[in-house]
Amino acid sequence: MAMTDAYIGLGSNLDGPEDQLQMAIKSLQHLPATTLIRVSSFYRTRPVGPEGQPDYINAVVLIKTGLTASDLLKHMQAIEDNQYRTRNIHWGPRTLDLDLLLYGESIIHDVDLNVPHPELHKRGFVLYPLYEISPEIVIPGYGSIAKLLQNANPDDVQKLSVS
Ligand code: ADP
Ligand code: MG
Repeated sequence: MAMTDAYIGLGSNLDGPEDQLQMAIKSLQHLPATTLIRVSSFYRTRPVGPEGQPDYINAVVLIKTGLTASDLLKHMQAIEDNQYRTRNIHWGPRTLDLDLLLYGESIIHDVDLNVPHPELHKRGFVLYPLYEISPEIVIPGYGSIAKLLQNANPDDVQKLSVS
């Protein structure tokens, strides 16, 4: 089976964000045809979008998977639904957000799936954890992670010590 390196961004700012991330990582680990390779530290980050919502906890994981990108996205959405994600306010508070950041070197423009994730290159809460687990990575269409990080604001992203 062809295995692809896929990076997934996790975020939560409701109902015990660190536990939400731990639970989601466990679920990702148990996806069919999938191995969990790396998990970044957890980061406390300032919310993007509507003001007055709690800080987020974010992390990035690397998996190797035999799933197609579209099947992987469906599994990720099932994990979100299992953790009581409700979709109402755009960029509003959520118990769990799973974003498919990168799928090998693929560039995908489907109605329901864009890869690399269209916001990846400008979001410090993704770039810092991604850099932590893969400092050499090149984002198709955008260049090296080190270069992208030069435009990120370190004040918005605080690395948490391993608990
Ligand atoms: P955001 O992650 O931008 O805060 P949502 O999680 O609410 O917003 O967006 C979910 C929608 O984004 C889904 O309907 C999904 O089809 C679409 N989508 C497009 N590309 C991706 C991707 N790379 N990862 C996750 N969802 C994506
Ligand atoms: Mg999302």
